[in-house]
Amino acid sequence: MALDSIQGSLRERGVRLTRQRQILLELIDNTGEHLDAERLYQMAKEKDPKLNRVTVYRTLKMLKAGGLVDELDLMHYGGDQHYYETRLKQEHAHVICLRCGRVEEFFGEPLQRLRRQIESHFGFQVLLARTEVGGYCAHCQTLRALEVDQLRNGAAAPAHAARGAPSGPGAGGNSGKPHGLRSRGA
Ligand SMILES: [Zn+2]
Ligand SMILES: [Zn+2]
Repeated sequence: MALDSIQGSLRERGVRLTRQRQILLELIDNTGEHLDAERLYQMAKEKDPKLNRVTVYRTLKMLKAGGLVDELDLMHYGGDQHYYETRLKQEHAHVICLRCGRVEEFFGEPLQRLRRQIESHFGFQVLLARTEVGGYCAHCQTLRALEVDQLRNGAAAPAHAARGAPSGPGAGGNSGKPHGLRSRGA
């Protein structure tokens, strides 16, 4: 995507594309990924060591308010973390693996159809749509199946119980009180 058109739309709004803003916009646009503010700050700092965290956060806010980047929470996979992507991409849904955090983008006619159906059904004018789908990627499904297997087999091998994780349904009724804590004053 040409940075010229971004510059144009910013100029219309009376916003100057400073070097720092430009660095961030380019990073977001070029990676094509969904990076959080901290990661963007680290990457931006490599390009301009004078950039500080406050400026980066403020600039992200500005780019968001200017409609140039979209702020996503990606099903809160990373807690309160927010992720940024360019608004210039074609509308797409985010498919998020809740185990490993992998994010896929789904572009497709069904999204446009959904938009049209909502518009005609509610007489609604859709300005933006954000679609997020959470689940497990193919890789994590395999790993989860293995984990379930291990849990089943692990029930016979008590060595795992020392790790502190509950070792199965109903296991360890009053294991919630680690006795190590109580011996402090003794
Ligand atoms: Zn996964
Ligand atoms: Zn995306």
